[in-house]
Amino acid sequence: MIASTGQHHVLTPNPEMLLASRSNPAFRSVLQYSSLNVPDGVGLLLASMFLGNPIRERVSGIDLITALCRVTDQPVFLLGAGPGVAERAAEVLHKQNPSLFIAGTYGGSPNAAEEAAIIERINQSGAKILFVAYGAPRQDLWIARNLKRMPGVGVAMGVGGSFDFLAGVLTRAPKWMRSIGLEWLFRLLQQPSRIGRIFNAVVVFPLIVLLTEKRQGS
Ligand code: UDP
Repeated sequence: MIASTGQHHVLTPNPEMLLASRSNPAFRSVLQYSSLNVPDGVGLLLASMFLGNPIRERVSGIDLITALCRVTDQPVFLLGAGPGVAERAAEVLHKQNPSLFIAGTYGGSPNAAEEAAIIERINQSGAKILFVAYGAPRQDLWIARNLKRMPGVGVAMGVGGSFDFLAGVLTRAPKWMRSIGLEWLFRLLQQPSRIGRIFNAVVVFPLIVLLTEKRQGS
């Protein structure tokens, strides 16, 4: 996608995003027409197994960013997250990959009033890859709305809290916890305010998958 001349939107869906898409047709359409959806949630793996079409593995947004930055020689722009976080995340990525070209970083906000100035900034930077951390679904609606206004950007990806992890604002779960599908629990301990989202992911989403399968099976 980076090498191609087209423009691509990459999303990292999790169960909460799929639930949100049920009542948000604009977001559902973004998910359906994106270039790539990378499964970032153990709930999606379990659901896919249950539905008989198993997804091979979970790929988190942060792992994809790290892997991409390791191999690309194209300029990267980091947009979003709290004050100073995108800058710190860029420093960390640059330390991991000294040849990585950071075209720019900016916090900003997804508010419509800021859109034109942010787009101008990204266009001026010459970025080819754009990571947007405004949380889902806002970041992905922002990308869908604005990608065409940033003709130099080949790949834009909504990355949620990835900058916070890179910058050390949040700590990632230990590997063993990730390997047994409990990264969400570790994050909940750091951010108890996510309890509503987690309830949706671990209770509401599985129930809807079960009910949908039952309805289709009967
Ligand atoms: N965020 C932001 N502006 C906003 C809303 C969110 O910069 O108006 C940032 C927030 O600081 C965080 C990121 O969006 O760094 C992701 O938020 P969230 O925890 O919702 O993401 P998740 O990883 O759960 O998708």
